[in-house]
Amino acid sequence: MQALLEPAVTTVPDARGRFGPFGGRYVPETLIFALDQLDSAYRDAKLDPEFRDEFHRILNDFVGRPSRLYFAERLTKEAGGARIYLKREDLNHTGAHKINNAIGQAMLCKRMGKTKLIAETGAGMHGVATATAAALFGLPCRVYMGTEDIRRQELNVFRMKAMGTEVYPVTSGSCTLRDAVNEAMRAWMSSVEDTHYIIGSVIGPHPFPMMVRDFQSVIGEETKIQSRAQLGRLPDVVIACVGGGSNAAGMFYPFVGHPEVELVGVEAGGHGPKLGNHAATLNWGQPGVLHGTFTYVLQDDDGQTADVHSVSAGLDYPGVGPEHSYWHESQRVRYCSVTDDEALDAFHQCSQLEGILPALETAHAVVETMRIAASRSPDDIVVLCFSGRGDKDCAEVARVMAGK
Ligand SMILES: *Cc1c(COP(=O)(O)O)cnc(C)c1O
Repeated sequence: MQALLEPAVTTVPDARGRFGPFGGRYVPETLIFALDQLDSAYRDAKLDPEFRDEFHRILNDFVGRPSRLYFAERLTKEAGGARIYLKREDLNHTGAHKINNAIGQAMLCKRMGKTKLIAETGAGMHGVATATAAALFGLPCRVYMGTEDIRRQELNVFRMKAMGTEVYPVTSGSCTLRDAVNEAMRAWMSSVEDTHYIIGSVIGPHPFPMMVRDFQSVIGEETKIQSRAQLGRLPDVVIACVGGGSNAAGMFYPFVGHPEVELVGVEAGGHGPKLGNHAATLNWGQPGVLHGTFTYVLQDDDGQTADVHSVSAGLDYPGVGPEHSYWHESQRVRYCSVTDDEALDAFHQCSQLEGILPALETAHAVVETMRIAASRSPDDIVVLCFSGRGDKDCAEVARVMAGK
């Protein structure tokens, strides 16, 4: 489980943070120094065995890693084909994969001698993970959150405040995640000397996409070790949902150099392919610049970032990590989309067949997992990255079902 010191399985990104044509840095001058400082602190930490040991000690003792690779017997029976295994990130402390990255970046903050944390959040899961890491390390923390999301995610707002984090309401634009990222970047620009900004996914300017991927790669590294130990070989297919793309990147990256393993990313198809009705960036977007990186983006004819929709707040983002754009164009990973209704059905199916409530984000990947498993032989192994637990979505599922 020593993900941080594994030799790189690919040579991307290059020194300028480019994944093929994607990635890089599209930011104001004032941020370049902070990004350079972060890049060099991270490269240094990556080679430091003490940093790596401490990271893994906290992931084990505090987060509860390694997470299980669990045989989903009744989902397997229902699909009637390949064997389905769940990589249980929902069992991590705070209920999702986001804590892996929050711990790693909070450690870097301390290492750089910075004394404050800021973060953005949409559904609140990254905010809660950051608030948790802030409490663990005794760092003051402010989380930027759109007022629309504050209204929808009351419980997560309470959790963050209970851990001593300040939740800062963002009232610009659509009052959701992309506005919160804009606001957090602005705030970082005026406070870079003493503040570290923990981005919650594999997005933003270099080195964030690389760094977040590396911290999340513990998911794929464990899966590799567990598949070999429990099943005697690597899986045939590995599937994950894609919002910004951090759980998928962490799961896929260690498998990229194994061409026999098929990789499938699942985006939010919302109500369908019309712009504004979905968040399936790689399926229906074009290359552009968003939040400091060159990547696929959902935009209108004037190049303005489009409004997006998904029943799942964590997939509701108009961009995607630049490495996913690279994997998409090089055809190493296949990206499909799943609608709101299909994800809601899978939420119930998984809950009833397995006794495990999936996050609505995860439910998108459950749909594609069932399709793929059904089309394959019982000798095949399909692993689903079970990114988070569904408790946070119960109120929203009840509200949507009542309206049907
Ligand atoms: C935030 C979140 C996601 C989406 O974010 P990625 O960066 O794409 O992983 C998926 N699942 C859960 C449970 C989340 O909380």
